[in-house]
Formats: sequence, structure tokens, C-alpha cells
Amino acid sequence: NRAVEEGAAEIEYTTVKAEVINNLVFVTSEAAPYSKTGGLGDVCGSLPIALAGRGHRVMVISPRYLNGTSADKNYSRAKDLGVRVTVHCFGGSQEVSFYHEYRDGVDWVFIDHQSYHRPGNPYGDSKGAFGDNQFRFTLLCHAACEAPLVLPLGGFTYGEKSLFLVNDWHAGLVPILLAAKYRPYGVYKDARSILIIHNLAHQGVEPAASYSNLGLPSEWYGAVGWVFPTWARTHALDTGEAVNVLKGAIVTSDRIITVSQGYAWEITTVEGGYGLQDLLSSRKSVINGITNGINIDEWDPSKDEHIPFHYSLDDYSNKVKCKMALQKELGLPIRPECPMIGFIGRLDYQKGIDLIQTAGPDLMVDDIQFVMLGSGDPKCESWMRSMEETYRDKFRGWVGFNVPISHRITAGCDILLMPSRFEPCGLNQLYAMRYGTIPVVHATGGLRDTVENFNPYAEGGAGTGTGWVFSPLSKDSMVSALRLAAATYREYKESWEGLVRRGMIRNYSWENAAVQYEQVFQWVFMDRP
Ligand code: ADP
Repeated sequence: NRAVEEGAAEIEYTTVKAEVINNLVFVTSEAAPYSKTGGLGDVCGSLPIALAGRGHRVMVISPRYLNGTSADKNYSRAKDLGVRVTVHCFGGSQEVSFYHEYRDGVDWVFIDHQSYHRPGNPYGDSKGAFGDNQFRFTLLCHAACEAPLVLPLGGFTYGEKSLFLVNDWHAGLVPILLAAKYRPYGVYKDARSILIIHNLAHQGVEPAASYSNLGLPSEWYGAVGWVFPTWARTHALDTGEAVNVLKGAIVTSDRIITVSQGYAWEITTVEGGYGLQDLLSSRKSVINGITNGINIDEWDPSKDEHIPFHYSLDDYSNKVKCKMALQKELGLPIRPECPMIGFIGRLDYQKGIDLIQTAGPDLMVDDIQFVMLGSGDPKCESWMRSMEETYRDKFRGWVGFNVPISHRITAGCDILLMPSRFEPCGLNQLYAMRYGTIPVVHATGGLRDTVENFNPYAEGGAGTGTGWVFSPLSKDSMVSALRLAAATYREYKESWEGLVRRGMIRNYSWENAAVQYEQVFQWVFMDRP
């Protein structure tokens, strides 16, 4: 960054093509802009494009969700390929079809089946998670394994020497199927698989009896068989026997990538391993952490279609206009000088929302404004509504999933709060820094890796750092970090400008990460010649 600041040319990764070209097959439950509930969707919507840009042949396979809303039009350019495959699972046979759109150098393939056509998001609706998710994602995995063999994309199939990039538990059956259903018959002998862990907390755990539904040979039970720890059992007779799809993927994939280096280590600890730490430790030699990039076209304050005024590192005087427009939109007093704090994210225990709730009254004593955007935990949603009523001049809570508003909050706020309990990578802090908004984050996982704590004394008083990284995860340390940030914003303009500039100048593009992924691709073919 310093070199760039001093005028050195930034490396143009996009002009450098990969030395070895691979046939890459991403399998994922979400890919933006088609489907997205969080970072997984962002990553699977943009990393494939970066890898295609470097010369790889890239396919992304996800379900064709139709939920009866305007979001359905996302799939309007994808055409039925006319290929049908019969999947044997759950005691019967299911026919799936394949839709396809070629965009930005990537083959976007959507698996079509009636179980993906229903109101809600990819995993559930207002009543909770769908009861048949194990079925829906089993279907996805079986169909995804067939796709490289049967889909003539651009005239040719991807073929058997494909490299599968398997994202989280929903796609976790893919490496197990490769090992159990295909390789014993001489198919996919040259294929490889890499499991990408975005969030270890969700593992696809179901009763052991559901094993027969997965379409795996009976002798492969050991790959997914898993025993709950005693404390997690509900009944004295409960043996704790279960199937755990993510565990099976950890066992059978050739390599494992996590979305930050910090998280690669955390998943091998008792605190971060969710019961799989010993297994993950045993595979440590094939685990790498690669920090996510972001979609720098979608998240670009100089041309973002969702924000009212544009700005850049050269001239960010319009940022304050975005803030005033946001205050107006939210019905808050229009006060450009008042520090504005934002929170965007799933209202989930993982995100530290309980801490924000406990700290609420303390924070409302200060002369600040606070806006939260999120949905999830109904208790937190009603807490947001009641805070809004009590603190009409200071607090706004926007319940829902709204991408345009998330852009306007990122641009309009001065400070973005992320008190996550754990955070595999985290994207909002990256968006924030690119928009000159200063992150205040808990020192965990990807947040610790990507936000550098502010040090006003370093560099002969010029200061270093891009935000505040607080620890431990307590109300007091969070509130004091926020107070420091707000005080710096109000009283130390030069320090603030330094923080803004250092954040905005960083290279957040996927190209950096894509080069590191290629290194792992090289290893995965070397590991098992
Ligand atoms: P996670 O994947 O754990 O939810 P990340 O920080 O990796 O967290 O990614 C979250 C993504 O989802 C970001 O792009 C964020 O802006 C977006 N997001 C989360 N909640 C909302 C919301 N309520 N409205 C719009 N976008 C949201």
C-alpha cells in the first residue's frame, strides 16, 4: 500500500494469465446476484469471474430458486439446456434439468427441480428452516457431479479432469460421491476436490437413519457417521449417532481452504472447531486460509448505482452528502458533524447482536446516531423497533434484507460496527474500508486479519491502521472502542483522514486471492499424482 501511495504502479493481476489452466466446477447453495443470504453468495458470485479472467474454464452450479418474487427475474437469461438427469436418492428417483447462462466468462448452471420453487430464501422462510433441506442439497450434489460429464457447454463437456470447488455443507456430498460412487468405477479418477469452508457452524447434521437417503453405498457410512458429544444429547438412551455431511467432506476432499488465515487456525481449536477440531487438526497439512476479495465493480463509491453521490480517494467530499441523504432517508436529524455508526448483517448470535443490545442504552447517552440493518432473530428485530421508538433522534433499525440500503449505510456512515463472536472472513468491513467508513471490529478470524488497529503514534505521528480492533468481546471494550472512534472523528480530523485514506487505498480485488487459489490448485494435483 505504501508503495502505491508513493506512486509505484500497482500490479495489474488481470493482465497476468494463469500458467496452468483448469476446468473448475464450483458447487454452492448460493451465488450472487442470482441468490444471496450472506458472504457465501458474494464469494461464489465473484471469485469464479476472477478465475475465469485468468484463463480458467469455470462453471458455477447452484439451484434455480424461484420464490415468486421479483428476484425470479435474476434467472431470466438462463436457458434450459434440454439435458435431463435422474438422481437416485431418498428411496426414489428424481429428474432434474439444467439451466445455463454464460456471463462474464463463467458458465452459470442452475439445477432445476420443484423443491427449489417456493417462497422464502434458499434455506427457509418466516417459519424457520425448510424440513427437506437434506433432500434439496443431496439433489444439488448428485446433479453437480453429473454436470461436467453431461453438459455440452460451448460445445464441449468439462470432462473428468475437473476440479470441484465445494462450498460449505450444502455441497459437501460432492467429494464423498466422487470417492464412493464414481472412482470405484473408474470415473473421475483424475478429478480433484477442494472444500471451501465459509462457516463451520453449519454442518448438515441429521439423524443417522437418514444415511440411506443420501444415495451412497452402505459401506461408506463411516465417512459421514458422527457422534454428538454427550452434552449435546437430549435423552439418556440417545447414542448421539448422526450423519454429518461436512465431516464427510473434510474426510474425502483433497484439500481444504478457509476464507481467511485466522479462521484456518481457529477451526482447529476447541472454541472454533464445533466438534470437528480434532479431525481438522489431523488434516492441517492440507488446509490453507485465503482471505476473500470483494466485487470491486459492485462496491465502488465512484460509480455505485445505489448511493446518491459518488466519491473516490482523490476527492471524498461527497461522502458527507451521502451521510446527510441517509439521515434524511431514515428520518434522523440531518447533522453532518454527528458521528454515525452502522451495523449490517444477519441478526444472529454469531454477529454479537446481544452485545449491541446490552450496550444500547450506554451508547444512546452519547451524541451519536446509530443505524442497524438486518433480519433474523425475531427478539432482536423487536428490540430494534423499540429502540427506534425510545430514541427517535438517534436510532434506526431496518428489519429486512435490502442490498441498496446496505450500500447507502456503508457509504453514509462514518463507523461500521462488527462485534462478531467469530467471523470466518467478513465482507462488510472490507466494503466499509473501500467506502472510507471506519470499521470497529472484534479481534476474531477474518476481522483480525483484515482490519489493522489504529495507532496514532506510529510513523512519527502520522499514524497507522485502518480501524479499531477490540478485545475481549465485552460490552465495555466494544463501547470504549466506539467512543474512541467517535472522539477521533469529532476532534482529530487529520487522524481520521489518515484512517479513511489507508482504508480506501487498499487493493480489495479478487485477483490477489485468485492467485493464491491457483497455488492450491497446483498443490491439489501434485498431492495425489
Ligand atoms: P455472513 O456470510 O456470515 O452473513 P459476511 O460479512 O461474510 O457475513 O457477508 C454478509 C453479506 O451479506 C454482505 O454482503 C452483507 O452486506 C450482506 N448482508 C447481510 N445482511 C444484510 C441485509 N440485511 N441486507 C442486505 N445485505 C445484507
